[in-house]
Amino acid sequence: MKAAAAAYIMGAEKSERAMSNPRSANRAPASLPYLTHPLLEAVPGLVHGFGLRGWEAGDAEKAWPGFRLIELEQIHSDILRFVEAPPERRLRGDALATDRPGLLLAIRTADCLPLLIADTERRVAAAVHAGWRGTSLGIAARAVRGLGERYGSRPEALVAALGPCIGPACYEVGEDVRAEFIRAGAGTAAFVTRPADAGGPGTPGAEGAASGRKYLLDLRAANRAQLAAAGVPPAAVVDAGACTHCDARLLSYRRDRDTTARLYNVIGLRNP
Ligand SMILES: [Zn+2]
Repeated sequence: MKAAAAAYIMGAEKSERAMSNPRSANRAPASLPYLTHPLLEAVPGLVHGFGLRGWEAGDAEKAWPGFRLIELEQIHSDILRFVEAPPERRLRGDALATDRPGLLLAIRTADCLPLLIADTERRVAAAVHAGWRGTSLGIAARAVRGLGERYGSRPEALVAALGPCIGPACYEVGEDVRAEFIRAGAGTAAFVTRPADAGGPGTPGAEGAASGRKYLLDLRAANRAQLAAAGVPPAAVVDAGACTHCDARLLSYRRDRDTTARLYNVIGLRNP
């Protein structure tokens, strides 16, 4: 069954690939429940969606009848779980992978980056939860390595879509977050120093309280760099673009502190 209702919606941070694709024009009505990307839509047998606000677990299973939703107990780790059948209870970790049909791998987010990965040569799919901590631990690169070790996936054959997350203009963090990246060996290329008294964009976070230094963190850039370093061609990594903090269709932990709701981001393999 084709998910015909879905369409890729451009956000503030446009990707060249999306702009060159007429299906990517920003014309999709706001009533669509989830975003997709043409690059993943083109992979045979794959289903995926980056859910908008209010589209939750039951809705995801209804969207693709016959699929079982697999959720993790997400702990901001770099733990990748391989699943062949629905586990009896939620596994702890922050990335899911499978080569079995009928499993809808789900990552819940509200500002963190959801990353959906598929193999264009083998029937393999993965979903990754990359907040700042998981990113500092290299979870995207770890997922690419894991797919290779477990399923024989070649990085050159993978495609990946970055879903909505908090954009760099809105994601102010403190020295402690940057220090964690340095400690983990993740480097600081994705941090931009914010002029101390410029009063620029961003919501001061509790993370910054310990020191005067503030930075803007670009989760997408950090994860793109990890994927590239792991061997995934840059042209095979696409971006859903939207900022969770700016876009009212999405959920933002920083903006919506009173909610425990999360966005559902899912990927799965159909029966061959
Ligand atoms: Zn924003």
